[in-house]
Amino acid sequence: MVFEYAPAPESPSVVNFASSYGLFIDGEFVEGTGSPMKTINPATEEVLAEVATASADDVDRAVGAARRAFEGPWGKMSGAERSKYLFRIARLLAERSREFAVAETLNNGKPIRESRDVDIPTAAAHFFYYAGWADKLEYAGHGPSPRPHGVAGQIIPWNFPLLMLAWKIAPALATGNTVVLKPSETTPLTALLFADLVQQAELPPGVVNIVTGAGQTGAAIAGHEGIDKIAFTGSTEVGRTIARQIAGTRKVATLELGGKAANIVFDDAPIDQTVEGIVNGIFFNQGQVCCAGSRLLVQESVHDEVVERLQQRLQTLRVGDPMDKNTDVGAINSGKQLERITELVAAGEAEGATSWQPECELPRNGFWHRPTVFTGVSQSHRIAQEEIFGPVLSVLTFRTPAEAVAKANNTPYGLSAGIWTEKGSRILWMADQLKAGVVWANTFNKFDPTSPFGGYKESGYGREGGRHGLAPYLKGEQR
Ligand code: NDP
Repeated sequence: MVFEYAPAPESPSVVNFASSYGLFIDGEFVEGTGSPMKTINPATEEVLAEVATASADDVDRAVGAARRAFEGPWGKMSGAERSKYLFRIARLLAERSREFAVAETLNNGKPIRESRDVDIPTAAAHFFYYAGWADKLEYAGHGPSPRPHGVAGQIIPWNFPLLMLAWKIAPALATGNTVVLKPSETTPLTALLFADLVQQAELPPGVVNIVTGAGQTGAAIAGHEGIDKIAFTGSTEVGRTIARQIAGTRKVATLELGGKAANIVFDDAPIDQTVEGIVNGIFFNQGQVCCAGSRLLVQESVHDEVVERLQQRLQTLRVGDPMDKNTDVGAINSGKQLERITELVAAGEAEGATSWQPECELPRNGFWHRPTVFTGVSQSHRIAQEEIFGPVLSVLTFRTPAEAVAKANNTPYGLSAGIWTEKGSRILWMADQLKAGVVWANTFNKFDPTSPFGGYKESGYGREGGRHGLAPYLKGEQR
């Protein structure tokens, strides 16, 4: 007998959004001079709040405040003192984690289970981890007296709004930089709650500035003369624009861009764990993950069995209300993103691949896409080449390890990869051959603040996380 799940909704009243938000500059909320924009809940299309847009003049004010803080209290502070602030931020994030998790789910559309168990705790863990480095930088392997760049301009996407903020702000502050950060226009709310938390932590004014707005605000940050270092996560296209914009200037940059990861399954892999890993690899966060395992490479002899078991498993996924604690797959972040996914899925069908979706009812409002598996995919198909950034898996086959490597590396990207096999020697050989910044073995989508993350080729350059993540924020150590 199969028992039905009863709804287990989290309460939206855990968070109190203001009806409108200004920009966070020099330690306080101020009006923006651009036209305000509305931010919505993508699962219902309801407006959550109105948010200011930062013009070039507002960005200039934020950079000025960050510069004063860098030349003033923050720049003069010892590492041990800075680390106390980082610990305080980490502790406050942990204390307010339920509020932040609910806010993230309402504004992003991801299941509450993920924001509660992954996004917010991992964001807090980043601050804890980098707090520990702030007073030990001379032992981090970056020279005897490493120095910060100054003011860091940080531009982040919508898929992990608070976690990307933590990846950017924690190492920047630990190394003594000050920041001007722009969240994505579709998911500004947890960054604005974070501004409130920064006030609560009594960080000196100007150390953290948060300017909301669209691409133009990002371009104003990247182009501002007072910015010393750029850290960007987002599409390869915008990453290229930024690289062109700052070429020939004294700015240094780290770019964390797109991916098209191969998740490679050998015939000796333990099938139940592998199927869980495939599901986690591509349906976590609705597949809106730069390192998602979007290309499944299966050894030919086990292809049919793996696909059949995967389809059985997908029938049990619960798609729907992100605020329900039982939900596995939530809403797509925006109408624009849903259009892109739909267009690529149509291209996959037109090019001759076979699509399959589990039966599930989708809510009437909001932006939704059923988990989708394409079989019969060949390497030239757009769905095998382009980043879909949605819950869509393309299945390809291989016969030998060498063929798996050749197919896995046949992409302009190189962010991550997964290997499923019982043989340790094969894991090591494959990991050595794969052109990917992160290679997971018998697991997928595992993130830890102590571990560096970043790409090869068109997936960008620079590393975030771990000791390596300090280098881009220190002078003379840019790689
Ligand atoms: P973008 O690269 O456009 O957005 C990332 C960030 O850059 C956002 O804050 C955005 O602002 C900002 N931005 C946009 N244009 C500029 C500019 N000219 N100069 C400086 N900053 C700018 O990604 P999208 O949200 O448009 O997503 C498009 C595709 O990118 C997705 O389908 C996916 O394939 C990929 N992507 C990859 C991510 C990754 O983690 N690697 C993350 C997100 C997307 P705003 O949001 O206000 O426009």
